[in-house]
Amino acid sequence: MRTLLEDLTAALGAGAVKGDPLELALYARDASVMEGSAGCVCFPTDAAQVQAVVGVARAHGRSVVPRGSGTGLAGGAVPIGKPGAEPVVVVTTRMNRILSVDAAARTAWVEPGVLNLDLSRAVAHLGLHFAPDPSSQQACSVGGNVANNSGGPHCLAYGVTTAHVLAVEVVLSDGSVARLGGTDPDPTGYDLRGAFVGSEGTMGLATAVLVRLTPLPPAVRTLLADFPSAESAAETVSAVIAAGVVPAALEMMDQRITVAVEDFVHAGFPTDAAAVLLAEIDGLPGGVDAAVATVVELARRHGARQVRVAADEAERALLWKGRKSAFGAVARIAPDYYLHDAVVPRTRLSEVLQRVYEIADANHVGVMNVFHAGDGNLHPLFLFDRRVPGALERVHEAAGEVLRICLDAGGVLSGEHGIGLEKRDYMPLLFSEDDLAAQDALRRAFDPERLFNPDKVLPSGSRCGDIRSLPEGVWV
Ligand SMILES: Cc1cc2nc3c(=O)[nH]c(=O)nc-3n(C[C@H](O)[C@H](O)[C@H](O)COP(=O)(O)OP(=O)(O)OC[C@H]3O[C@@H](n4cnc5c(N)ncnc54)[C@H](O)[C@@H]3O)c2cc1C
Repeated sequence: MRTLLEDLTAALGAGAVKGDPLELALYARDASVMEGSAGCVCFPTDAAQVQAVVGVARAHGRSVVPRGSGTGLAGGAVPIGKPGAEPVVVVTTRMNRILSVDAAARTAWVEPGVLNLDLSRAVAHLGLHFAPDPSSQQACSVGGNVANNSGGPHCLAYGVTTAHVLAVEVVLSDGSVARLGGTDPDPTGYDLRGAFVGSEGTMGLATAVLVRLTPLPPAVRTLLADFPSAESAAETVSAVIAAGVVPAALEMMDQRITVAVEDFVHAGFPTDAAAVLLAEIDGLPGGVDAAVATVVELARRHGARQVRVAADEAERALLWKGRKSAFGAVARIAPDYYLHDAVVPRTRLSEVLQRVYEIADANHVGVMNVFHAGDGNLHPLFLFDRRVPGALERVHEAAGEVLRICLDAGGVLSGEHGIGLEKRDYMPLLFSEDDLAAQDALRRAFDPERLFNPDKVLPSGSRCGDIRSLPEGVWV
C-alpha cells in the first residue's frame, strides 16, 4: 500500500505536496500562539485537485485542514491529530485567480487564495472594491475571510464578510462539489451560504467565491481626536452612533499603543493622549462634511483636546498607516504577542477596558489596546516572551479572565477572529448544551464524518458526540 505522501503526489504531481520536516513545521502554525502537527501539506490548483485530496485523505483515515494565508489568530488552520494520524493541510495559495468580474452587477467570482487587497486593487479601475478590510488585508485570503466571516476597520458601516458573499462553491467531505447561494436577491430555501460563511473550515473547503463589489466612496474624510481619558473617548464613540452617524470606521488606540506606533511610524500621533479615536466618514461630499462636523463637535463636547482632520490624501494615508502598523510596532517592543478578540456593548467599553488593565497587572502581563471601538470589538494585545517560563500560561490566564468579564458585560466570545481552537472550550460559557448540539447537527449535515477541521469550534463534552480532546503536545 502506498503512503499518504505517495498517494497525494500521484494525485497532484510532484511539487504540489510537501512532507519534509521544515515544511510540516511551518504549516503546523498560524498567526496564533498555537502549534499542532501536519501529516502532509498540499497545494491544489483547482476544485478537481481538492476533490482528489479529499479522496486520498479519506482513504488514509486523515482529516483535512483548509488553509489560506495562515494569518488566522484563533488557531483555525492549526492541524491537530495524534501521532500517525496528523491531518492533511490543504493550502489555497495556488488557487489565486480572479475568475470573472461583472462590473454592471458589481460581482466577481474569485478563487479562495486571492488575497483580500489584491482583489480590491484588481477592480479599483472600475471604481469598485471588496469592502471587508481586515487589518491583515495585504496577506489574508478571501477564502480565509469567508471561513472566519472576517471584519475590519471599515466593516462598521459596510458590514462583515457575510454581507459581501453571494455564493460559495464548496468541496464537501464525500468529494462532491456544491454551490451554496446565488445571485437571486430573495433566495428560496435554507440559507446554506449563510451557514457556511463563518464555519471556519469545518463544513468543507471553499474552492470559489462569488463576492459582492462595492463602489468606492466619492468622498472620504479621516480625523484623529485625542482624549485625556479612555472614558471620554469611549463616550464619544457611543455619542457618535447615538447621533445617527455611522462612520465607515471608528477605531480606538490607548496611550500605550499610540506611543509604540508613533515611535515606529512618526505619523504625528499625540503620545501624551490617554486615548485617540481614528474616525473615517465616507459617502457623498455634502453628507460627509455634515457628518465630520457632527463627530468633531461630539468629540469636543466629550473632552477631546484636539481634533485633527486630515487635510489631504497623504495625511489620511499617514493616519491609517499608523493604525495598520500597530502590530508591527508591537513587534519592536516584545518578542511575542497574543492578540485577543472579544465584544462588549459599546456602552460598556470604558469599564471593561479598565478591567482589562487590572487583569493584565494582576497576571504580570503587559497589555496594549487597539480596537474597532464602533462595534465594541475589543482587541487587548498581551505582550510576552515565550522563553520566560510561565509567561504564556499567565497570558492565557489573563485572556480567559478577559473573556469572562466581556461575557458578564453582555458581550460575546469573538468579534471577528473566530473560535478555532483558541476559544473552543469557552463555547459553553455562551451556549447551552442544546445550542451546541444544534450547531453540531448543522455541522454534521455538511460533514457527517468530521473530515474537515474536526477539532475546531465545538467543544468536547456536552452532547457534541465524538469530539476529541486535544492530544498531548498541542501548545494552546
Ligand atoms: C496583524 C493581523 C491583523 C488582523 N486583523 C484582522 C481584522 O482586522 N479583522 C479580522 O477579522 N481578522 C483579522 N486578522 C485575522 C485574520 O487575518 C483573518 O481571520 C483572515 O480572514 C484569515 O485569512 P487567512 O487566509 O489567513 O486564513 P487562515 O488563517 O489560513 O485560515 C483561517 C480559517 O479559515 C479556514 N479556511 C481558510 N481557507 C478556507 C477555504 N478555502 N475553505 C474553507 N475554510 C478555509 C481555515 O481552516 C481556518 O479555520 C488579523 C490577523 C493578523 C495577523
